[in-house]
Amino acid sequence: MGEPRVLVVGAGLAGVLLARRLRDAGAEAVLVGPHGGGPGGGHADATAASGGLARAFEPDPAARALATASLAELWDDPALAAAAGWRATGSLYLLDAVDAGAAAGVAGAEVLTRDEVSRRFGFDRLPDGTVGVWERRAGHLDPDRLRRSVLRGLDRTETTPVARLGDGAVDLRDGRRLTGDLVVVAAGAWTPGLLRAAGLPSTLRTKHIQYAHHRTGRADLPCFVDETSGLYGRPAGPGRVLLGLPSDRWDVDPPAPAPDTGLAARVRAVAARRLPGLDPRPDGPPVSAVDCYSDPPGLALRAVAGAVHTFTGGSGGAAKTVLAASRLAATALLNSRSAIRVPHG
Ligand SMILES: Cc1cc2nc3c(=O)[nH]c(=O)nc-3n(C[C@H](O)[C@H](O)[C@H](O)COP(=O)(O)OP(=O)(O)OC[C@H]3O[C@@H](n4cnc5c(N)ncnc54)[C@H](O)[C@@H]3O)c2cc1C
Repeated sequence: MGEPRVLVVGAGLAGVLLARRLRDAGAEAVLVGPHGGGPGGGHADATAASGGLARAFEPDPAARALATASLAELWDDPALAAAAGWRATGSLYLLDAVDAGAAAGVAGAEVLTRDEVSRRFGFDRLPDGTVGVWERRAGHLDPDRLRRSVLRGLDRTETTPVARLGDGAVDLRDGRRLTGDLVVVAAGAWTPGLLRAAGLPSTLRTKHIQYAHHRTGRADLPCFVDETSGLYGRPAGPGRVLLGLPSDRWDVDPPAPAPDTGLAARVRAVAARRLPGLDPRPDGPPVSAVDCYSDPPGLALRAVAGAVHTFTGGSGGAAKTVLAASRLAATALLNSRSAIRVPHG
């Protein structure tokens, strides 16, 4: 049996990197979907909207392993880092002391006490026992730029959106049908709807994500996640920071739901309390987008039925895990010979 022909639906970061890994492993991967936006054209997908925060430390061990391997790949490959618009600003992850043991496995990470965090980074009113995991080698990347760079290296791409999924085939919106041995739906927040329309089972959901850019006098802030308040942020060019809080809006349709003005106001209030020196002044409307969430969370290959799999479920964090997750997914697909019913070539 030759290498399989894999139809990868969706040209977000997950789809392009999976297609690239499959091609590098000798498989025939056909990437199907508009390049750089929603399938209706002109709308941002999660990759275009992403904040791109990337670090090795994650409280969840599986996510930590993928994030650590992905960050190592960026550091080992300067051309990849340049293509990804990598900025090593450092990353500070604030969490409850009981979880701090997890930081021990992250090479180069420093565990800071609450007082050290306050002294070095200006965080205020942190709960007793808060610890900080400081990673000097972490930072942020530009997921859209990385997507475009990977796309340029792919020769088998099809920009017409998929109208309907089938078992070993996809029908395109222009009436054509593509066939393959395997179909991988990497259509981010559009994935649950595509599966539903095809009568396929899915536990994937969508969720709103929103952040905004702010002007500030503080130029020294690294990337940060403050689990004790939910606030996260990163530097965003001279005199600017990106700030956000998790949204609680589930089952939201992509690509770009109306911004949540209440959430934007809460971000400013929390930031004023936690980072009193920041003085964040909004700079433009919030970025409001949708990602695909899975339980357990994380970008991974999941079998659906027959030849159909999904590679999504990034749950608001796939920019930092996609390099390693796409390698694992490609290997798993190529090893899943039992799922390949039609020998190709
Ligand atoms: C606002 C926001 C901020 C984020 N910040 C971070 C962060 O700081 N750090 C981090 O690690 N992660 C972050 N994430 C998460 C990360 O960016 C996403 O998990 C990741 O980009 C998802 O990529 P994807 O390819 O799965 O989905 P998407 O980028 O949404 O791509 C899906 C693609 O499928 C295509 N598609 C849809 N329907 C069809 C169809 N019928 N036929 C063909 N193609 C179709 C779409 O056009 C789209 O291009 C953020 C996400 C958002 C939304």
